Amino acid sequence: MRPRLPLPYRDEPPIVDELLRTLSGRLDWPAAVAQAAAWVQAVREKPAPFWALESLLRVPDAETAIALTADQLGRADFAGDSDGDSPHRLLATLSSSAIALAKRWLPDVGEPPGLFERLGAKTVVAATVRAIQLLGRQFVLGRHIDEALDEAGAQRREQPRLRFSFDMLGEGARTERDALRYRAAHDNAIRAIVQRQEPPEGTVDDGDLGALVRDGISIKLSALHPRYEDAQHARVMAELVPRVTPLLDLAAAAGINLTIDAEESDRLELSLEVFDALAAHVQQHAPRWRGFGLAVQAYQTRVLEVIDEVARIARARQLQFMVRLVKGAYWDGEIKRAQELGLPGYPVFTHKQHTDIAYLAAARSLIQHDAVIVPQFATHNAGTIAAIVQMARPRDARFEMQRLHGMGEGVYREVLAASPDLRLRVYAPVGEHRDLLAYLVRRLLENGANSSFVHQLADSTVPLDELLRSPLHAMPGSGQPMPRDLYGPARRNPPGIDLACAPQREPLLAAWPHATVPTVQEADPAQVDAAMRRLHAGRSAWNAVPVAERAALLERAADRLEARLPHYCALLVREGKKTWGDCVAEVREAIDFCRYYALQARTRLAPQTLPGPTGESNELRLHGRGVFVCISPWNFPLAIFGGQVVAALVAGNAVAAKPAEQTPAVASAFVELLHEAGVPRDALELLHGPGETVGAALVAHPLTAGVCFTGSTQVAKIIQRTLATSDGPIVPLVAETGGLNAMIVDSTALPEQVVDAVVGSAFRSAGQRCSALRLLCVHDSIATQLIEMLAGAMAELRVGAPEDVATDVGPVIDADAHANLMRHVRRLERDARLLARTPIDDRFALTHIAPVAFEIDAVESLREEVFGPVLHVVRWGGDVDALVARINALGYGLTLGIQTRIDSRALRIAAAAAIGNVYVNRNMIGAVVGVQPFGGSGLSGTGPKAGGPHYLYRFCSEQTLTINTAAAGGNASLLAGSD
Ligand code: NAD
Repeated sequence: MRPRLPLPYRDEPPIVDELLRTLSGRLDWPAAVAQAAAWVQAVREKPAPFWALESLLRVPDAETAIALTADQLGRADFAGDSDGDSPHRLLATLSSSAIALAKRWLPDVGEPPGLFERLGAKTVVAATVRAIQLLGRQFVLGRHIDEALDEAGAQRREQPRLRFSFDMLGEGARTERDALRYRAAHDNAIRAIVQRQEPPEGTVDDGDLGALVRDGISIKLSALHPRYEDAQHARVMAELVPRVTPLLDLAAAAGINLTIDAEESDRLELSLEVFDALAAHVQQHAPRWRGFGLAVQAYQTRVLEVIDEVARIARARQLQFMVRLVKGAYWDGEIKRAQELGLPGYPVFTHKQHTDIAYLAAARSLIQHDAVIVPQFATHNAGTIAAIVQMARPRDARFEMQRLHGMGEGVYREVLAASPDLRLRVYAPVGEHRDLLAYLVRRLLENGANSSFVHQLADSTVPLDELLRSPLHAMPGSGQPMPRDLYGPARRNPPGIDLACAPQREPLLAAWPHATVPTVQEADPAQVDAAMRRLHAGRSAWNAVPVAERAALLERAADRLEARLPHYCALLVREGKKTWGDCVAEVREAIDFCRYYALQARTRLAPQTLPGPTGESNELRLHGRGVFVCISPWNFPLAIFGGQVVAALVAGNAVAAKPAEQTPAVASAFVELLHEAGVPRDALELLHGPGETVGAALVAHPLTAGVCFTGSTQVAKIIQRTLATSDGPIVPLVAETGGLNAMIVDSTALPEQVVDAVVGSAFRSAGQRCSALRLLCVHDSIATQLIEMLAGAMAELRVGAPEDVATDVGPVIDADAHANLMRHVRRLERDARLLARTPIDDRFALTHIAPVAFEIDAVESLREEVFGPVLHVVRWGGDVDALVARINALGYGLTLGIQTRIDSRALRIAAAAAIGNVYVNRNMIGAVVGVQPFGGSGLSGTGPKAGGPHYLYRFCSEQTLTINTAAAGGNASLLAGSD
């Protein structure tokens, strides 16, 4: 399919230049300022209410509510600020006295509260919750649509021309049930709006623009479908579009405005597809309706192209749309995603000022498209408002302004006093207390941000000319380090691929047909012995190569891997049966290992001069141990295999590498690449074959100077025993093994966030990650609701062929693994309670395991690692420390997830857990080299952590060199300095 938009990853400066060019000579900023200054002055003389609050809470079980309040309030600044408006003053007073009380009464976080304190604490908690609910009303119009309509009616009695766009708050749907519930809420809301519609004011020509004079509604597509994402394109078009059309029909029949909300940039292209399909429906069923529209975000570097595309759709379908222009709400998330994925750039502007420029350029573009678009400008910035009024005037363009409920009241009071004909709509969130928090936090952050107009407006120390300074000049460079520069100049962040972007994934799909898996020769005992002797002979020469040269060689390998990323990905899909996203991440990890260990070697393996008495020099030197045996598993056949090998090599060892039997081709390709990059053949040999023969022979070989093993705990034990019984030198074993990884979810956790983390951690890569979640521990009070949501989300997963981009869960590695997992699942079917299972097509029954979740009685019921998409769930209550102790007692210590909104609780659990990698409020897989050094303890391994600063040392021998510099007859330097 032809993309509708250009690539999101383009250089920012030329885009900004182009935006400025479209405004040049067409916007008189000083004239806009002259108008805006009067408004600002008036607002400052008579300010509207303004609030700042940083921390919020909801009411879970009493125990937790107290801890949450104590924790949050410890950091909160509830300073209210009021213009004397009585409800607001009341709220401010209530908030600050609740805080003051809370601070006095609440026990220290972490200490179990005593009886008296608890009584006091409960009272304070109740008062604080009440205060925050009141504060919520500042930004949320009503708990449900009827309440919101009442409130809208009340406001309209003061300002008869005021219109509202209702926004039903809520998270994106994780389940079909949530999506249907959200749709029902919208259906209900539209009917209520229509029923309560007040007659539009008489002065306005209702004509074909009735939607301008009526209240409307906004809908969020991600809340109407659990898989609204590019990879599920076919499903979205087949399922989501028909789900939205009845809402369009209702809105069209009533002639009200219905706006599709804007979401993240990886859905932008998809959103236009959906919008076009919906427009086709409107064209057919309601061609005279003028209320359909969508929101466009100015922070998108493609904003002008989006507007052009919307105008093109309107013309092609002979329709007219309403387009809301916003700055954009997901900026921080967009920046983080691009950095994490190592994307070629940012899809959004990195300087706030560039977004301001883009807003004005987009406003002009919308005004230019007035034949097919009626713009709705959502801004509280006085300068922007004045500029829009100025740009719209010559064309007499129809438009409206929008402000958020609870914000921008002062500015618009003045704007409307100056231009009573201007149309103003209030964007009005509607939602229950539980849905309100995330929205509220956003608003409060926005109000609190120093750079925000509303904040500066309220701060009378910011002079007028600064507040209204022209944004019309480009800022130099990027406002954020480019994703590739995330780790500074010394180590480039490996380049990634945005799979949601068709042109980006093209090279991968093109490489797929060429990926073939050749058969390999297995080594026999004589070949193992011969290889070890060759390596032993070659080790000294390799060790003598200066560290800097060995490091440079790793960097060359990284460059080559980077250049061949699509090829390696395709090979990993083919041989390792992994999905595309996992493969891209794995190749990036392998590149990262090369660069990271190169850097570590340069900085850490150089000789160190040590202090000592005069007449003596002391130096600590590190060098290779000899021949290192590296044995790796199949589940990361490039990253783990490669990471072990390059670490051992850069430390000066010769390496005998034995990959897993299931994945020899990836290993062969990487070893060939290392040889091409310059690693001598007698410093690195690849030996294929079964672990029990080839692996065991390597471990037992008398020339083995160290073993680096990643795999199961059972095999690690076998290796440990072999090494222990050897009569030769005592050699080190680095073992990274499996885990019984748990996630602790307390009653404050955000259910949607938990479900995302659980699904990703337990089922991604078909659960075949050592870090994968095996044991989900959910607090009793939320377990039923959470399990229901989890089951709904599991029902949405796609089990399929790994090369299909829509696949979430691919096959397990081989028939043996399949049989073992099926046996375990059958046992659980007998002994445990089935909670949920993802549907699976019969075609995949012999190769795949459908993601499945069972409830088990106790943490202790899980004894061994189950290496597949099988999740065990236990409920817990009471003391969280006791739960941590039971998890520790399992003896493994690899990964742990914690889901809580109580920071101090998360830290306490982490401190008590004997676990190597702890993840709070996110998934627990995908450790990044040098960012989350990875590895466990106990039955999970020996350490040191792979991708961490201590790893290379374990591959080295140390030598202390002490030289008596006075041996020639005297201490020359001492004597030379003496009188
Ligand atoms: P495995 O233990 O069966 O095999 C690992 C490697 O050891 C293979 O190359 C195999 O051929 C070799 N081997 C088997 N028996 C041997 C013996 N007697 N002597 C010497 N070598 C022998 O593991 P697997 O099935 O390939 O991989 C899955 C396991 O790896 C899981 O337990 C997983 O948790 C673990 N793993 C751990 C980490 C980590 O970093 N902690 C990372 C990935 C995988």
